[in-house]
Amino acid sequence: MTARSFGPVILIHGGAGKVAPDLVELRRDGIRAAVVNGWQVLTAGGSAVDAVEQVVKTLEDDPAFNAGRGAVLNRDGEIELDASIMDGRGLAAGAVGAVKRIANPVTLARTVMEAGGPTLLVGEGAQRFAAAVGIKECVAEALITERQRARWSALREEQVEGVGTVGAIAIDQAGHLAAATSTGGLPLKTPGRVGDSALIGCGTYADDQLGAASCTGNGEAIIKLVLAKTALEFLRMGEEPMAAARRAVGELTARTGAEVGIILLDQYGRIGVARNTAQMPCACIREGNTDPEIFD
Ligand code: ASP
Repeated sequence: MTARSFGPVILIHGGAGKVAPDLVELRRDGIRAAVVNGWQVLTAGGSAVDAVEQVVKTLEDDPAFNAGRGAVLNRDGEIELDASIMDGRGLAAGAVGAVKRIANPVTLARTVMEAGGPTLLVGEGAQRFAAAVGIKECVAEALITERQRARWSALREEQVEGVGTVGAIAIDQAGHLAAATSTGGLPLKTPGRVGDSALIGCGTYADDQLGAASCTGNGEAIIKLVLAKTALEFLRMGEEPMAAARRAVGELTARTGAEVGIILLDQYGRIGVARNTAQMPCACIREGNTDPEIFD
């Protein structure tokens, strides 16, 4: 690897898809606040893993996003959450799928990663692990917003895409990379369905020798194309980050026609962003440009 000539970078997204008009501004504000939180972690000497966890936690706590509080409801009117995190330093990864009553699934995923055993825990086993490590369950109602309850009632007859998944990727002062993603999944999803956001290589990937990526959109299509890792392999083949992101979304679109978005960073801190959806609020902060750059 060549000598580093760049500082830390944080790049985050708030989900791909078309957003209700009254949420656009709220999401932009939420993204701005979260990226600043992540940047503060990095400039204080925190690791990329600390930064992406902090960003995703902030967005899980923000009811404007489909993660943690404010997540979409499944077919049974319940919230089941997926999240994952990966440390590019040594490829350590942790993930949880279909967990209930957990306010910050990304923190649970990080705890799974640090426990060093299984990479992915789902359902009842994940709940038991949370209890064992002292992560308290909240009451189910604490995560359900009026908006999502009303949306659930209105959408029961319709199949729709979900929006508002959150993700963050970062490179820290030591040059290490990390990625994290968290979601409530798709509205009206089948109970027990686990999407790409819990699957390493699909929704989330980080490798110091390659880059970091977080995906959003139709999880079934993202899983089929193993989108995060596929996009990073384009970097290995010599693509620039922006071209790699676009090629990944282009291939997915050609093969599945589904709606998705991706953010990625290469090992030198260069960014790539692509989507085939109407919107995907994103924000980036990097050294020398510490005013959050907001784009959608
Ligand atoms: N990718 C998420 C899933 O399929 C949903 C989303 O990003 O909106 O679970």
